[in-house]
Amino acid sequence: MFQTILIANRGEIACRIARTARAMGVRVVAVYSDADAGAAHVAAADRAVHIGGAAPADSYLRGERIIAAALESGAEAIHPGYGFLSENPEFVEAVEAAGLVFIGPSAAAIRKMGLKDAAKALMQEAGVPVVPGYHGAEQAPAFLAERAAEIGYPVLIKAVAGGGGKGMRLVTHAQAFDDALASAQSEAQGAFGNPAVLIEKYIEQPRHIEVQVFGDGQSAVHLFERDCSLQRRHQKVIEEAPAPGMPEAVRQAMGRAAVRAAEAIGYAGAGTIEFIVDGAGGLREDGFWFMEMNTRLQVEHPVTELITGVDLVEWQLRVAAGQPLPLAQEDLQISGHAFEARLYAEDVAKGFLPATGTLGHLAFPDGCRADSGVRSGDAISPFYDPMIAKIITHGPSRDIALARMRAALAGTQVAGSVTNLGFLSALCAHQGFAAGQVDTGLIARDQAQLVARAAAQDVDWAQAAAAALGLLGPLPETAGFHLWQPMAQSVVLAHEGLERRVAVQVLGPDRLMATPEGGAALCLQRRAAADAGWQVAGEILPHWVRLGEDLTLFRGAGLCFAVIDPLQRAASGAAAGNVIEAPMPGLVRAVFAAPGQSVAAGDRLALLEAMKMEHALLAARDGTVAEVLVAAGAQVEAGAALIRLEDEAEEAA
Ligand code: ADP
Ligand code: ADP
Ligand code: MG
Repeated sequence: MFQTILIANRGEIACRIARTARAMGVRVVAVYSDADAGAAHVAAADRAVHIGGAAPADSYLRGERIIAAALESGAEAIHPGYGFLSENPEFVEAVEAAGLVFIGPSAAAIRKMGLKDAAKALMQEAGVPVVPGYHGAEQAPAFLAERAAEIGYPVLIKAVAGGGGKGMRLVTHAQAFDDALASAQSEAQGAFGNPAVLIEKYIEQPRHIEVQVFGDGQSAVHLFERDCSLQRRHQKVIEEAPAPGMPEAVRQAMGRAAVRAAEAIGYAGAGTIEFIVDGAGGLREDGFWFMEMNTRLQVEHPVTELITGVDLVEWQLRVAAGQPLPLAQEDLQISGHAFEARLYAEDVAKGFLPATGTLGHLAFPDGCRADSGVRSGDAISPFYDPMIAKIITHGPSRDIALARMRAALAGTQVAGSVTNLGFLSALCAHQGFAAGQVDTGLIARDQAQLVARAAAQDVDWAQAAAAALGLLGPLPETAGFHLWQPMAQSVVLAHEGLERRVAVQVLGPDRLMATPEGGAALCLQRRAAADAGWQVAGEILPHWVRLGEDLTLFRGAGLCFAVIDPLQRAASGAAAGNVIEAPMPGLVRAVFAAPGQSVAAGDRLALLEAMKMEHALLAARDGTVAEVLVAAGAQVEAGAALIRLEDEAEEAA
């Protein structure tokens, strides 16, 4: 076994790998960027090496710098995690040329699976079913339109170099084909530097079912399937293992196909074969097709770990160190059911915009596995993926594992950023999902119901006001000697666009009366046991935290109130309307406006890229550009001013 490995990654996956490595007695070297000097993954390592600036291109993507860090710290092997350099064959070659071991497959195996068209051709040869379609070299639009007509609409256009759902377009009829093709090609060119596409039959009522494989370079085993059908814009949201409603014969057929795929390319290490499955009318042995292979450890690997009892990172280290596969196929078994939910800093109500912030408070309940790369007090920065944690539960049956997930989400406390916690809870309460009726369209169909948020009740306003006024703390030691005068105070709170004044009367050390504007008076009572909190009419009030002017009550997915300072309010609000701000942290890809230019409402002024998506920023009204405050290539925070229009008064003059 290695004595020391370097982890060329950050965040939860770097922490996850460090945990297993250290448990195996292997020393861990972390690398970090300027933005990550105090990050959790640095604290999780035995030693850490600074490798450059915050942007990934200046640090986590600098292969030579990372290899130099490994050599100077005495590491014998490099684990790439996922993302960044994990599927980069040139990096694998450079690692090996430096005399180090790459903990993953060979450069040749990665290359074979790197492009979707070549991978499909190879899999077809190996006897693995592939999605019907065209994956040849000819790319003329008229030719591709003919192939689409032959395949039959609806079809899916995919970038051959694609990933993360980029460069993919669903086309439902022939008239829409040319436009969809052009936009897929230009997105693919921008994102991957390769405009080539393939055309596939679009499987209706599709399910995404993938098989975890593990190879030693010659032979491979599979560790059963994961169902990742709960997706939003082709991004996984909740994953589970095994797949609901999977007949044993289909499981075996898919497992055999996946092992054939891995063995066909002499695969070593952990990999995933993704299949698209026709979910209409139940799973069938002739109803699954190869989509692509991910030649790395996958984000959702923990659900496989929980149903098999295998530590996949331990297997990765052992196989990379030259040991045989720890278990044979017949020794692997499924035990129970597992779910994983991806908790993100994102604003669900604003179309799932990625968010940033300092997580002043972060806590997970017992009864779940929480894989996280941040701790209370850490920041979600604009430079990286805004994932906060993966929450994973296991149970003897699907129902029990799901009930445990609902409980885990209900007990998760995050303050300091908006999150998708409420959305995840709503998904776990969805009846179709609970019944195992999953397909990749579920979230989009029921989105309105899933993003609806429970509004704060009067009792929440009352509690928030009492907390804001500092009245819910522990009893002062001198309480007994105080002369408790009935005392009236009030505070203005804002919550989801609504502002209300709440009057609070102190009736004694353990009794308050709070009256939210327009509502009835509520009596808050301190509970008898020490530090047991407060109650209203017998109902125990939830925990809460205050961070600056934000007060979060941990009821449901959390209710955030802003404490309004009457002085500050008068000052703001004057300059609004003229400035186009970044709605989320991201990279400014292009600016289309120049000072003095007249613009019309709806004109595209700039293009912002964030979280695998491009967002056009539009002029809100007709006007003249006064100032351009950023240049293409700049990394900006949410709320940064990008372009200023002239005052309407200024213009009229
Ligand atoms: P997967 O399809 O493996 O479940 P995702 O859909 O979450 O992964 O991510 C899509 C791509 O983005 C993958 O290539 C993954 O490796 C990468 N990725 C996801 N999260 C991160 C992260 N925190 N840092 C870097 N890359 C990431
Ligand atoms: P990426 O490399 O971006 O992950 P994939 O080829 O893995 O691209 O596809 C991503 C998602 O798109 C799948 O998980 C599935 O939801 C959907 N998808 C892909 N191919 C098809 C298809 N032929 N029919 C229906 N849905 C598909
Ligand atoms: Mg995929």
